[in-house]
Amino acid sequence: MLDLKEYEVWFVTGSQHLYGPKTLEQVAEHSREIVSVLGASTHIPVQVLFKPVLTTPEAIRELCLGANSAKNCIGLIAWMHTFSPAKMWIAGLNLLKKPFLHFHTQYNSEIPWSEIDMNFMNLNQSAHGDREFGFIGSRMRLNRKVVVGHWLEEDIQSDVGNWTRAACAWADWQGAKIARFGDNMRDVAVTEGDKVEAQMQLGYDVYGYGVGDLVKVINKVSEAEVDHLVQSYFDEYEASSALQQGGEKHNSVCEGARIEIGLRNFLRAGNFKAFTTTFEDLHGLKQLPGLAVQRLMRDGYGFGAEGDWKTAALVRAMKVMSVGIEGGVSFMEDYTYHFNGSGDKVLGAHMLEICESIAAGKPRLEVLPLSIGGKADPVRLIFDSNAGPAICASILDMGQRFRLVANIVDVVTADAPLPKLPVARALWIPRPNLKEAAAAWIYAGGAHHTGFSYSVTAQHLQNFADMAGIEFLLIDENTKLEEFRKELRWNDLYYHLAKGL
Ligand code: MN
Repeated sequence: MLDLKEYEVWFVTGSQHLYGPKTLEQVAEHSREIVSVLGASTHIPVQVLFKPVLTTPEAIRELCLGANSAKNCIGLIAWMHTFSPAKMWIAGLNLLKKPFLHFHTQYNSEIPWSEIDMNFMNLNQSAHGDREFGFIGSRMRLNRKVVVGHWLEEDIQSDVGNWTRAACAWADWQGAKIARFGDNMRDVAVTEGDKVEAQMQLGYDVYGYGVGDLVKVINKVSEAEVDHLVQSYFDEYEASSALQQGGEKHNSVCEGARIEIGLRNFLRAGNFKAFTTTFEDLHGLKQLPGLAVQRLMRDGYGFGAEGDWKTAALVRAMKVMSVGIEGGVSFMEDYTYHFNGSGDKVLGAHMLEICESIAAGKPRLEVLPLSIGGKADPVRLIFDSNAGPAICASILDMGQRFRLVANIVDVVTADAPLPKLPVARALWIPRPNLKEAAAAWIYAGGAHHTGFSYSVTAQHLQNFADMAGIEFLLIDENTKLEEFRKELRWNDLYYHLAKGL
């Protein structure tokens, strides 16, 4: 769906003329070497481009302006191999609109004890050169990521790579279009929000449509296209004979395929990256889109149910940041609890719309009643999800600002089979436990809708929230409820005051 190699990060080395051309050539050579190693690292999914060593305010300013206007540039990695007086950076950093990572590394890994002289000292001086650069970032109150360590170390490359993944998702959000079929589900609070503020701060734009606009496109789908897609369903999924050609439920499968093709055509034609539906507004649709949503999510579209555009955008961002990592990303909802000595658990599911990227094994295609919405029985995929650690994340409009809250959970297998449950699901134990995690989540105002993933990590989301300039709250094995509540109170003050700083 997405190729993160289309994106590039610019590697920028700061220095000054004081050192003379010979040293500067060596600085450039070392930078090139680091760039080639980072570019080839399996931890870094984007291209890493070498940029000439910067030694003047004019060159720095030009570089930052160039980065702003370069479509595929998702951010800068800045490193001060030598000393680069930071007043030179003010004009450029004032203009920079892309995220940046301050890479506090050193060309040489070890001190050459018997050889070290002043030439070595004057070349390998990021230990103090980067502190000068760090000061100006703090003085200017710039959002940036600081990574410290030697560039050949795998975990350091991984930290850089995780940041580039967040930067890809951030770049993807800028100018992104989200289609919203129907409005918010009536009276639901958490799925509402300020779309103007979201566009100003987060970069994406939500386009509202009547469901009739979609129905028009669905009605244009040909029978041949439907037949072709239905055949591929039977190749990909388990399905009973009732769903096959001549079976009593076959028409429902065809209707589901028609909806998928129409929805896909609509989203493609409008260049949308995410979408929402609502079961309260299905005029002209014969069934609630279930299978269609599951498959579009699998292919990289963000989704939020009941008009939830914030979660749709978040699921899309999580899809982008996890490209190429095993695991999967889905829309999710905390549905029902299992209070039991074996560990209190959450059963996560939705009416239909869980992405098959998180399925354990081959999904089963089923046509079953929905018992809500008053429409024909919708076709959907049913499956259990993989066991293992995962993350649930929710983005909220708190009125004056956005908040991102996440919980690390451990997905487990069910205590017993669930033969009558007609939806895809995941069963998990939240960290540190359900009692504290759910209390913390509720104090934070976390939604019932989430982006759920085995491949996205807290580090990805922290980086992403920092780029967006929004609050990030993590609930994990280290969470102490009373400390978490204090963090909420302090953050309320900080984010209120920070606007005036
Ligand atoms: Mn819901």
